[in-house]
Amino acid sequence: MDELTTLLDSAGLMVAEHASRPMNSETRRQTILACQQLLDRVRIAQSTLIADATTNSDWAGTGARNIADWLAGTTKSSYNDAKRKEQLGNALNKSKHLADAVNSGAVSPDAADALADAVNNPPNTATAADIADLVNASEGATPREAKQAASRWREILSTETEEQAHTRRHNARTVTNTVACDGMITTTITLPVLQARQLLNAINHAAGEPVEGDTRTNTQRLADGTITLAQLYNSGQLIPGRANPNIVIVIPVDGFTGTTNEPGHTPWGDRIPAHVVRETAKNATLQRIIMAGSKILDLGRQTRYATHDHYLALVARDGHCRYKNCTTPAAWCEIDHITQWQHGGTTNINNEWLLCPFHHQQRHKPGTTITGNANNTQINLPNGTTINCPPHGANNRKPEPSQRTQPDTPPSTTASPPPPGSTPTHTPTQNWTHVA
Ligand SMILES: [Zn+2]
Repeated sequence: MDELTTLLDSAGLMVAEHASRPMNSETRRQTILACQQLLDRVRIAQSTLIADATTNSDWAGTGARNIADWLAGTTKSSYNDAKRKEQLGNALNKSKHLADAVNSGAVSPDAADALADAVNNPPNTATAADIADLVNASEGATPREAKQAASRWREILSTETEEQAHTRRHNARTVTNTVACDGMITTTITLPVLQARQLLNAINHAAGEPVEGDTRTNTQRLADGTITLAQLYNSGQLIPGRANPNIVIVIPVDGFTGTTNEPGHTPWGDRIPAHVVRETAKNATLQRIIMAGSKILDLGRQTRYATHDHYLALVARDGHCRYKNCTTPAAWCEIDHITQWQHGGTTNINNEWLLCPFHHQQRHKPGTTITGNANNTQINLPNGTTINCPPHGANNRKPEPSQRTQPDTPPSTTASPPPPGSTPTHTPTQNWTHVA
């Protein structure tokens, strides 16, 4: 062992030996603090070493695929933990300002960890001075505050459009599961805010209101709602509810018509980009509210952007999602305008078709265009591929029992959300902040 490794080894032994001695409360608190300082210093040093080892390919010849893999495999520690240290080391190497702030104690290693991704992958326009600003703003911050500062900082420096930001968030959607442990699995779901609200709304609705004597916690009640949704879906009883609006989005009329890009907001204060509200509106109920200041002057009747008759006609013509080889049932599809309404497209079945939520999203990706008409439609992808998407007709796929429309009953099929998230549709409400 060289001098440094011998020193580290004996420091560890000394700490362990001293920590096992009897001590009073004050001394114990001080010792805990001193241990934390030592751990922080060592973590910073180790993170920088890991980053340097990556740069120098020090894992080569060990059989590991990178240095984090080598460390995790050799010490039976967490691979993700080693990767995080590498990221922190990269950030410290990249920004001397951050390294100085951490070494002086102005920014804690945990807060630096929260800043690492912003420092390593800053927006294109960010300069070293911008990164220094972020570090300064994070002095004395908790990791959570540092993460929020980094997120706000990204927003300010970002040159991406609303559409690009939306696409980036959409691409970050995930559902992950842990391995089963003590008979339990933890599922983590990450979704753009509107879809997350839809999911939570559906879970909350399926869970039902707590009744008197209900001893469940709120999280247990939501777990029950999730189980109910899954069981209904698995037993084929989940009837999509086109006529069951349960997310309200308020948007100024200019944002709604595309004159401006003023966003909409949910009752929870979530900001929903204008183009997402416009897309969502095609499958929702609309209500106009004319306001003078905070006073409501007129409340319009609720109308559906695409009527139920339209929808039934589209089900008959399209059968299911129109994208090539996609067989997502019509009940889970959304109505899309072939020529967008902000480009003069009208709301009639000759300009409408059914796409599942995934392909609806694909169709609106930058660089994707549509050619043809409602009966002979092509999607042209940015890579030059043209995909023919003919109507399938109602007989192409037998409707499932839950999709059959019964006469004399209110609309009961949906053009809205994907399985198994279930029923929610949205109710964007038009809002006019002043009257001429
Ligand atoms: Zn599809």
